[in-house]
Amino acid sequence: MTALPASATGVVTIDLGAIAANWQALAKLVSPAECGAVVKADAYGLGAGRVIPALQSAGCRTFFVATQPEALQARALARSATIYVLDGLLPGAGEDLIAAAAIPVLSNGEAIREWSALAKAKDVRLPAAIQIDSGLNRLGLDESALSAIMTDGEMLSWLDLKLIMSHLACADDPDDAKNAAQLAAFRRLSSISLPAPLSLAASDGLMLSRDFHFDLVRPGYALYGGQAFKGGATPVRPVVKAEARILQVREVPDGATVGYSATYSAKGTRRIATVAAGYADGLFRHLSAGDGESGGQVSIDGRFAPIVGRVSMDLITVDVTDVPTGSVGRGEMACLIGPDLPIEAVGAAAGTIGYEVLTSLGRRFHRVYVNGGE
Ligand SMILES: *Cc1c(COP(=O)(O)O)cnc(C)c1O
Repeated sequence: MTALPASATGVVTIDLGAIAANWQALAKLVSPAECGAVVKADAYGLGAGRVIPALQSAGCRTFFVATQPEALQARALARSATIYVLDGLLPGAGEDLIAAAAIPVLSNGEAIREWSALAKAKDVRLPAAIQIDSGLNRLGLDESALSAIMTDGEMLSWLDLKLIMSHLACADDPDDAKNAAQLAAFRRLSSISLPAPLSLAASDGLMLSRDFHFDLVRPGYALYGGQAFKGGATPVRPVVKAEARILQVREVPDGATVGYSATYSAKGTRRIATVAAGYADGLFRHLSAGDGESGGQVSIDGRFAPIVGRVSMDLITVDVTDVPTGSVGRGEMACLIGPDLPIEAVGAAAGTIGYEVLTSLGRRFHRVYVNGGE
């Protein structure tokens, strides 16, 4: 492995082999249904430019992105893949989608009619996915909108319907009654539609039961090592490690305060390490810990060190009094995400979810990709 640049304040290590293995494990779990991959938001912040080729080598043929620029990038990396755009067709943006050979997920009647009109004007059938709403009330056609669309045969004849999909609201919790309700709604509504392959489940939904797999599943988070499903372990392994440099270690006397607004005061003499990672690097300000509060932590040489005081833009201060002095020198690394600090735990400490931790992580940090097969 190449040495870390001397000026790197932090490093995010991304295990491409683990991403490939995670996709294969999920593909096996859901077979004979197909396993796609959601690579929106730059593959959840991990770098679509590296993640998409790794998934393609693993066997993935269907990708979901959120936006047209993401589709263009994915297309350049995966020439023959099927690429769906979850945000669908923005008014007037049809040509841009065609330029990316991307398939919009059409979620309302207006978008469906606009895409069909564009097909007619070009005198070609255009591929489309239709999203129906099964209870999330976010994107998708409700029953009356779907019924109205399905009566317009001429308009539909311009569409090559590749997928009918919907999205679950509570699939992380296997005991939530909404799962069965949405499953029933999806079955009923998809039967009103023209026949096409069906897709309902993301990372958590695919863990509920085979009933939720249909023809295609759409995991994102689980591919990146995330454990969204609360009913048991998803068969994936961690992908990301994030570390940042210790810039300085100081002794703070009893009663002295640390950080902005002096929210923390030392109880006895403490050793405080200042680490080069802050909220601009995805360490949320909610990880701060004033007096009597518990916040986030880092790990140094396998020992936890709590964040004390406010998280600032570029820095955190951690109490390393209990960490052996040998491992906390200037330039040493503090681990922010790793085997003993999973993204879910960091998310919980910050009052958010692992997804937000992942997509916010380490934009200023050096990136290292390992096990990429080259
Ligand atoms: C983001 C997204 C997914 C992937 O969700 P994960 O929980 O990351 O697996 C699947 N489907 C839709 C519609 C999404 O927006």
